[in-house]
Amino acid sequence: MKIVLMGPPGAGKGTQAKLISNMYSIPHISTGDIFRKQISQNTPLGIKAKETIDKGQLAPDDITIHIVEERIELEDCKVGFLLDGFPRTVVQALALESYLQHKSDKLDAVILVEVPRSEILERMTGRRVCLNCGASYHIHFNPTKVEGKCDVCGNQVVQRVDDQDETVKRRLRIYDEQTQPLIRFYEGKKLLHIIDGTLNIKEVSKSICDILGSEVI
Ligand code: ADP
Ligand code: ADP
Ligand code: ZN
Repeated sequence: MKIVLMGPPGAGKGTQAKLISNMYSIPHISTGDIFRKQISQNTPLGIKAKETIDKGQLAPDDITIHIVEERIELEDCKVGFLLDGFPRTVVQALALESYLQHKSDKLDAVILVEVPRSEILERMTGRRVCLNCGASYHIHFNPTKVEGKCDVCGNQVVQRVDDQDETVKRRLRIYDEQTQPLIRFYEGKKLLHIIDGTLNIKEVSKSICDILGSEVI
């Protein structure tokens, strides 16, 4: 099962990706999590990516594509994968398509989680994340069991530098300009499924499972 989860920043991609990846036992690949991990470990890639990401801009396509290709080469992706936050540009989508074509393979479904702008800002400003395992929480909608500690791994949860108001607005602008065109791209390939991301976390999961159950072998 090879799935892409799309949606604006704050739509709930990461939250759903964790649940779906557990349910279907497929690896969850989040380019945002990979970049954040590299940044927290001060690797050369992290140092290079930090400024761009903190400002809310997209990392360069060539670096991002390389990271994803390297990741999906790994053994655990033989059973499939769930991509969260990749592709984000048409260049990335074409690279993924040609990579899979070379392996006589293709995506099974692209799921677009839709949430109106009015709700996104509230979600983003209340978001707290674990930089160790990538889990995402919300101070009201999905709080940690123990204040400030990740439910999964016990690490401290923090607010992302790029979740400040102005940076969120910039990221939404970039989404409209660079990522929205992918909706048409995947619609044209008959892969696109749109779901209502304003429902609660469980209901959104159910909508995704319904699609995966009926569309994906
Ligand atoms: P969100 O979950 O809020 O949509 P992510 O965690 O997916 O954000 O990504 C955080 C940041 O990492 C992005 O704003 C961007 O700077 C960088 N990034 C993540 N995925 C990509 C990508 N596919 N292409 C370029 N940059 C990316
Ligand atoms: P994305 O990966 O798309 O940027 P996240 O999964 O990190 O989004 O979710 C963004 C914020 O919204 C987080 O604080 C998360 O806890 C919260 N959230 C996710 N799904 C829902 C939902 N269905 N209803 C309310 N809040 C949600
Ligand atoms: Zn954690």
